[in-house]
Amino acid sequence: MSTNAVDKILQGQPALVTGANSGIGRAVAIGLAQAGADVVVNYISHPEAADEVVAQIRAGGGRALAIKADVSREDEVEAMFERAIAEFGTLHITVCNAGLQRDAPFHSMTLEQWQTVISVNLTGQFLCARAAVREYLRRGVVDGVSLAAGKVIHMSSVHEVIPWAGHANYAASKGGVMLLMKSLAQEVAPARIRVNAIAPGAIRTPINTAAWSTPAAYDDLMKLVPYRRIGEPEDIARAAVWLASDASDYVTGTSLFVDGGMTLFPGFASGG
Ligand code: NAD
Repeated sequence: MSTNAVDKILQGQPALVTGANSGIGRAVAIGLAQAGADVVVNYISHPEAADEVVAQIRAGGGRALAIKADVSREDEVEAMFERAIAEFGTLHITVCNAGLQRDAPFHSMTLEQWQTVISVNLTGQFLCARAAVREYLRRGVVDGVSLAAGKVIHMSSVHEVIPWAGHANYAASKGGVMLLMKSLAQEVAPARIRVNAIAPGAIRTPINTAAWSTPAAYDDLMKLVPYRRIGEPEDIARAAVWLASDASDYVTGTSLFVDGGMTLFPGFASGG
């Protein structure tokens, strides 16, 4: 059997990944490219890291392009999608991944900390999903390329359902992403557009270095992870490839938890 037919399941389906020069976004961009997609590598800072992702994709025989844009700015998001579509002809896959934290106890959280997180994590996902859906609606289903007219994958978090003291802005943003995803999925399903979320648990990336970079922190973290290992960005990339492919064609409006069991109330494992 030709491995190409099996491995390159996203051939002919250009993808855009936000925040793709670091952590999860980087792994997702590379994973989609390995599955055959042309990939737009969005970044806001560290262009050299975006160039490195592009170079890695090209070295593997794929097509990739780095585009700078702040996902919280409408004009920059619109310009990014315009350029991506001009370069690759269209888009079939959009991964709204860019995100950040601005942690603070609730009583001292500033309006700026609140608004920065909501602007990037929630409004940024709205702006990118809207631009994607407009293109998918314009183009419709292309026979032989994908059963769907397009796919949106939101990067949520276990904190779309787990409350998180000291991180009210972040948890509110991810709870918002969950209902944005479900409402959009309901709205565009008749147009054969699939909208899902990935809800990662603890993944080894720069966003949460403090939680895994010392043995003591790692041991502490493992109390929250029944599967007793930290997640790697590639764990999320594999889920993204599946959600982007026709293998998940009947899946829409769902959050796929990739969390080693973090949402299984680990505190109750010994009886509660
Ligand atoms: P990361 O810090 O490595 O990556 C975040 C990326 O988003 C970076 O490339 C950053 O530059 C980019 N970004 C931030 N603001 C941006 C903006 N305004 N415009 C464009 N890009 C912007 O962290 P990560 O862990 O890879 O996070 C990726 C996503 O996964 C985030 O949405 C995060 O909330 C989510 N997530 C991460 C974990 C985890 O354990 N690492 C768990 C659950 C959810």
